[in-house]
Amino acid sequence: MTMTLYTHPDCERHELQRHPERPERLRAVMDRLIESGLTNEMQVHLAEEIDDASIARVHTPEHIETINGAEPSTQVVRLDPDTYMSPGSLRAAKLAAGACSAAVNEVLDGEARRAFCAVRPPGHHAELSVAMGFCLFNNIAIAAETALQHPKINRVAIVDFDVHQCNGTIDIFKDRPEVLVCSSFQDNFYPHRYLNFANEHVINTPLNSGAGGDDFRRAITEQWLPAIDSHKPDMLLVSAGFDAHTADPLGELQLVDADYRWVTEQLIESANRYCQGRLISTLEGGYDLNALAGSVETHVATLAVG
Ligand SMILES: [Zn+2]
Repeated sequence: MTMTLYTHPDCERHELQRHPERPERLRAVMDRLIESGLTNEMQVHLAEEIDDASIARVHTPEHIETINGAEPSTQVVRLDPDTYMSPGSLRAAKLAAGACSAAVNEVLDGEARRAFCAVRPPGHHAELSVAMGFCLFNNIAIAAETALQHPKINRVAIVDFDVHQCNGTIDIFKDRPEVLVCSSFQDNFYPHRYLNFANEHVINTPLNSGAGGDDFRRAITEQWLPAIDSHKPDMLLVSAGFDAHTADPLGELQLVDADYRWVTEQLIESANRYCQGRLISTLEGGYDLNALAGSVETHVATLAVG
């Protein structure tokens, strides 16, 4: 089993003091992956920046122009109350998307079967034409479009177990039946978008505040796994947010590492059944540094051996 990891230290250059989506998140993740020895068991690649033409498969030219032009040379600008850009943000965002795209290409070349992208800023809230929810470009959507360029790939599935619904991913793919989007999230919670939206390839899985692993596992088993079975994707893409962890300061769900191990095992099984094992996962949320590091370690360790 060959597993690959994409990251870049410049993803830490996107920075606003006292903001929950902070450079220390990525440092905690990478420190843990190194300390645990996991980085010795896989290829580790430095990400490269994505080009604008690849971003344009997902976002409007106006959005790309806005983000390209919004980076300040000093201090920080806010694109909305939650979403900021600092000096270095544009490179960080293009590295994050570039990591996801390169991971897809490497898996398609057959050099690895699975990949994890330890990057930030996250992407799943970024819609077709707007940055929001800490996200500038939609990394997993760019990965999906990279995959769909390839003649071997006709259908993909994107699954997202972040505590927040992936409104951006839904916005981008809601009219694209070749892309299955499954999103579990805390009900009545940010971003309050697409809540009553559903069609045969967009699966919203709301969970009540306080829900734990049993509720999560039941919902995934009843809703996601049959949807993947009928979609029969050629590649499985994972928006891996870990803010549904019980220790997370933003979310109010109660998942623990064993739940992340369980869902990762289910997804590996689906990828083995339909996608010749091809699975690419990228970091989304997760704001308690210890919990985040532990959850990512569990997720990556499961991907590395499963
Ligand atoms: Zn989140």
